Amino acid sequence: MKILAFETSCDETSVAVVEDGKKILSNIISTQINIHKEFGGVVPEIASRHHIENILPVFTEALEKSNCQLNDIDYIAVTNTPGLIGSLLVGLMFAKSLSYANNIPLLPVNHINGHIFSSFIDNDVKLPAISLVVSGGHTNLYYIYEENGKIITDLLGETLDDAVGETYDKIARILGLEYPGGPHIDKLSVNGEDVLKIKKPKVDGYNFSFSGIKTFITNYVNNQKMKGNPVSKEDIAKSLQEIIVNVLYDKILTAIKEKDVKTILVAGGVSANRRLREKFSEFKNIKTDQNEQIEVHFPKMEYCTDNAAMIGVAAYYDLKNNSQVEQRKQYDVDAISTKN
Ligand code: ATP
Ligand code: FE
Ligand code: MG
Repeated sequence: MKILAFETSCDETSVAVVEDGKKILSNIISTQINIHKEFGGVVPEIASRHHIENILPVFTEALEKSNCQLNDIDYIAVTNTPGLIGSLLVGLMFAKSLSYANNIPLLPVNHINGHIFSSFIDNDVKLPAISLVVSGGHTNLYYIYEENGKIITDLLGETLDDAVGETYDKIARILGLEYPGGPHIDKLSVNGEDVLKIKKPKVDGYNFSFSGIKTFITNYVNNQKMKGNPVSKEDIAKSLQEIIVNVLYDKILTAIKEKDVKTILVAGGVSANRRLREKFSEFKNIKTDQNEQIEVHFPKMEYCTDNAAMIGVAAYYDLKNNSQVEQRKQYDVDAISTKN
């Protein structure tokens, strides 16, 4: 089964062809990072204009690279929520038109579901699993298990305020680093010391809170500047890495203790983070309830940030779960910007 997938929820225009939910025949990503850099963040109106310019060439390239014709395609998948409304609309309208004109059923896909299922590319995932989605807008923890042949994703917890990627980007801005800040902080931290030793936020259950960490660092930087003391970007980067990675690690450790967990899946842009990858490999030293080693999976870099391959894979599992049967031929699917 071949799925042609579209992703335009933020500032990446991406089109992919996915075979049987596993094999990525093509995955073309056109990113606008360089355009939005000078504004210090994504400008929604500019993003949607660029999607309009990019979508046709990206689609053409993805189809060519996959060696498929439109009549080889069984389904068209498209991100319809959450994201920037103007950006979402470009992908959705393009996919709808293509679907209608060629009589290929349309599958709307939740972008965060896409991030979750990016872990299933190139991997035979052993369930039950814990999935952590850490991106620019989300910090969500899921328990994923199989029931009656269906894959269930239960949201265990989420951030009550800022997302992890957002925290990286905001601190980067304070330090005068370019957008997106995550990769810069990741690099700088290698030569830094954890001088701030920030305390863990107290949040019950599986939820997270990162805005206090941001305030703490902002106050520290302002105080140092007021006193005329030098501020080491490397040390702040290292301190931020340590607190964030430890908070995420601890919540997952709790889940491993409380639940039957065979695999840890990490997805979203922040899953590219070096310290996160290093620290999370420690989970492999923990044994499952069946006395086997816990597996830890990070997606390949091209599937960490926004891409259409993950949308095609999520659509495949949605279909398998039969959750969208009624929607397949409907063209009244809307773009919805909010996360729910
Ligand atoms: P969402 O998926 O929630 O709608 P998004 O699609 O904008 O948000 P992604 O593209 O998945 O998010 O991820 C982008 C985020 O990942 C940015 O905040 C960026 O700073 C962060 N990021 C990328 N690489 C790293 C890294 N090495 N370390 C930390 N953060 C990183
Ligand atoms: Fe994303
Ligand atoms: Mg992005």
